[in-house]
Amino acid sequence: MVGAMRIMAVSDRVLDHLYSPDVGQKYPAIDLLIGCGDLPFYYLEFLLSALDTTLVYVRGNHDAGPQYTAEGRVLMDAQGGVDLHGRVVRVKDLLIAGLEGSMRYRPEAPHMYTEWEMTRNAGRLLPQLLWYRQRYGRSLDILVTHSPPWRIHDAQDIAHTGFKIFLTFMRLFRPRYLLHGHVHIYRNELPRITRYHETTIINVYPWQMFDYGTL
Ligand SMILES: [Zn+2]
Repeated sequence: MVGAMRIMAVSDRVLDHLYSPDVGQKYPAIDLLIGCGDLPFYYLEFLLSALDTTLVYVRGNHDAGPQYTAEGRVLMDAQGGVDLHGRVVRVKDLLIAGLEGSMRYRPEAPHMYTEWEMTRNAGRLLPQLLWYRQRYGRSLDILVTHSPPWRIHDAQDIAHTGFKIFLTFMRLFRPRYLLHGHVHIYRNELPRITRYHETTIINVYPWQMFDYGTL
């Protein structure tokens, strides 16, 4: 069982109402901050510190290379956070795994994967997932991705096509949640939350806040 836990997830766009000095007063009890990619690292670091919480994240297809801040810092990752890509971590009693990036639409570009390459990434999680299942009776609580699954919240163009392996993954390992970004929603009629077998899939763009188990 996972105790009461409030999760804030962010992706793809810096929001003024979160990137603000009073964010800690507005949202005082965030137990876990989850980054779903395509965000500047300074934003994640700011939220981590202002919310005084724990950060896990994956990179999006636009997170390649160093990032330069106005103060002259060079950021290669979000300091103090855990880059989840290709691993399963146990954070505050939750088992969380990550698979970064998008469908490959440029050869050789980082953080882009063909369906086969993403299947290999997912395969690397297997030993840990099996070990956790042995140890805790469940493999995974949350899968954090940048891209959506195939035909769930995805789009027809190559860059925004979802991954089929995520469907297989959900059927096999039954995470309670899959959180993704990447698909920008500008019209409210598009679905943000979809159920697939035992998993609730949430399009985080540009942010979501919920109590674990209530969605
Ligand atoms: Zn993206």
